[in-house]
Amino acid sequence: MNRINRRDFLRLAGGSALAAGTFGFPGLLLANTRKVVVVGGGVGGCTAAKYLRKLDPTLDVTLVEPKTHYTSCFMSNEVLSGDRSIESITFSYADLKDRYGVNVITDSAVGIDPIAKEVRTADGARLAYDACVVSPGVDFKWETIEGYDAQVAETIPHAWFAGPQTVTLRNQLLAMPDGGSVVIVAPPNPYKCPPGPYERASQIAMYCKHHKPKSKILILDPKAKFSKAGLFKQGWAQHYGFETDNSMIEWVGAEQGGKVSAVDPASGTVKAEGGDFHGDVINIIPAQKAGKIAHDADLVENDWCPVDKRTFESTRHPGIYVLGDASSASKMPKSAYAANSQAKVAVAAILARFAGQEPGEPTYVNTCYSIIAEEHGISVAAVYRLSEDGKVIDSIDGSGGLSPMDASAEHRKREVTYAHSWFRNVIDDMMQ
Ligand SMILES: Cc1cc2nc3c(=O)[nH]c(=O)nc-3n(C[C@H](O)[C@H](O)[C@H](O)COP(=O)(O)OP(=O)(O)OC[C@H]3O[C@@H](n4cnc5c(N)ncnc54)[C@H](O)[C@@H]3O)c2cc1C
Repeated sequence: MNRINRRDFLRLAGGSALAAGTFGFPGLLLANTRKVVVVGGGVGGCTAAKYLRKLDPTLDVTLVEPKTHYTSCFMSNEVLSGDRSIESITFSYADLKDRYGVNVITDSAVGIDPIAKEVRTADGARLAYDACVVSPGVDFKWETIEGYDAQVAETIPHAWFAGPQTVTLRNQLLAMPDGGSVVIVAPPNPYKCPPGPYERASQIAMYCKHHKPKSKILILDPKAKFSKAGLFKQGWAQHYGFETDNSMIEWVGAEQGGKVSAVDPASGTVKAEGGDFHGDVINIIPAQKAGKIAHDADLVENDWCPVDKRTFESTRHPGIYVLGDASSASKMPKSAYAANSQAKVAVAAILARFAGQEPGEPTYVNTCYSIIAEEHGISVAAVYRLSEDGKVIDSIDGSGGLSPMDASAEHRKREVTYAHSWFRNVIDDMMQ
């Protein structure tokens, strides 16, 4: 974990003055209490809220989130294989409130006024801010697949927000006969969790191998290649007969006609460039864009929110910091670890700004694990820094990389353990 202690933060924020000025004498500063409103209680939002309060307990930090509990998308594919329950990935905001003193409001933000510096909520509250953090995750471009919308998704789930649809998809797999077909429609780039659809196929195959071994999983993909493809295909060959006559998983990429244009829910048919495909269970993961509030708050250009990559401050509206999946943070992927790391960069920048100082020189980190089979994990990791022109968050040569193709069985098994401990660490770091 990239834990950052108070001293590191203050160094990043340039701040012994901040330490002397705020930590010791909170009572003296009440009149000047700075307010930060955080929109979205996911990875980016929770991490930012927690670290703001942890690093400067005089701050008045309010987190606006419509759900009473956070259900993590990361590890939600394991619910599909039956390896874990939905409860095991569902967490309360109690620690943020009780331990860190964050005001948690169960409500949705419906507007942000960057001039009045105010967040409006659906219940009619108006929350004044000195800095606003926005981490609302993604929304779907429903219009890209004919016949698919939020209502159809209740029966043909995307399950790309972990929660009730994850359970629906799991129940559909349980109800599917042996010999049934599962069709997964993968999204075009960019989208949250680049390896996610392929880990999902692996986890469904893991379940089918033990319970429905005659079943097939077809991935229809508008892309010609995908994240960690070599490692996934190697794992699929090892565990699920990939590219043999009896392969449980088939991947149809762009060049083979994998781009899907429509679904007919009545017949359970997906229409792709390469033909029509029937699924007993269909999982459509649509194309994505920044969450709705980012659009409503005028933070978006070309589907995503442009930011100053040194601070994650919006380039459209100063004082608003956009993190995580909603931001344009190329070359970082849209992942939980990236959102967690970006939140810390933004917190350091906000603290520096409040202290009247320049932001420090950031580094960022990401690791994405995928679990292909019970004892087979793979990963991609990188440490990043800002390019000299400030335009790109680039990985540092030699800082990470992919799991080796020739790793031992012991290594693959260990990566599953690492994936599970990574999960516990991220949850702990963001909200516990
Ligand atoms: C199946 C799957 C598997 C994944 N596995 C991994 C993995 O192994 N490793 C990894 O690093 N990443 C993984 N991810 C990606 C990871 O979940 C996301 O990248 C991460 O959650 C992004 O954090 P975020 O803060 O941007 O958004 P989120 O965590 O999605 O949080 C957004 C929050 O904002 C709230 N919100 C939205 N609109 C409003 C509003 N108007 N007002 C108030 N609140 C609002 C939402 O309710 C939500 O709680 C996976 C994703 C999926 C779908």
